[in-house]
Amino acid sequence: MKQKKRFVAGNWKMNGSLSQNRDLLNALIETVKDADSDVVVFPPAIYIQQVATILDGMNIKVGVQNISFEAKGAFTGEISLSMVKDFGCDYILIGHSERRTLYGETDADVAKKMKVVVAAGLTPVICVGETLEERESGKTEDVIKAQLTSVIDEIGIEAFKNAVIAYEPVWAIGTGKTATPEEADQVHEFIHCTLKAYDDKISDLVRVVYGGSVNASNVDSLFAKENIDGALVGGASLEAEGFTKIALA
Ligand code: PEP
Repeated sequence: MKQKKRFVAGNWKMNGSLSQNRDLLNALIETVKDADSDVVVFPPAIYIQQVATILDGMNIKVGVQNISFEAKGAFTGEISLSMVKDFGCDYILIGHSERRTLYGETDADVAKKMKVVVAAGLTPVICVGETLEERESGKTEDVIKAQLTSVIDEIGIEAFKNAVIAYEPVWAIGTGKTATPEEADQVHEFIHCTLKAYDDKISDLVRVVYGGSVNASNVDSLFAKENIDGALVGGASLEAEGFTKIALA
């Protein structure tokens, strides 16, 4: 398979402040300006305007951690796709495991969100991954397949044409436990095979990135694997030195 441009994203989750964001971004603008990867940050929605302003014209792009699949109306606390588009967001994180487990987001919700993101021409970064219990009972591939096919069945394989898929084993997120490069690579290959059954070309185009306690020390061994096209980084993206190392790896 052809080597793809790496995708490295920082999911800030519910962290940051005006001054912390400014300091972090000012450092990153300097350190990652020559990165060969696509570098993206996902700040909390309330800071998108600040982040987009600081990053205007830079090689670091802005994404949003979640959107509503509704267009507008009486949905208190939600933000719509056209709103985030207004602020120059190019990437939308969909189906992060924290959204699925803490806020009850279902595969059907994920499919609806993919649909609006794709229709708007933005890039979905769709997260899939198994829990520890599912892995230990040998269900990893079944879970990943179900998460992907629920989207494909609803809106078609074309939805993945411009997508990034983040394989994030739930047991590795924020726990300091990382899937071994071999474990991750195996699931990434499985993701490609699953998509290939629908469309060869789309399977080749899609970047599959790994997420789950990626840091400056383990990134090289993960990126050495053929099927790992980048990383979705949580904790380590809040600190400039570590995130820079990942973005430049
Ligand atoms: C994430 O939130 O997507 C993530 C991978 O977090 P962490 O790197 O902290 O495990």
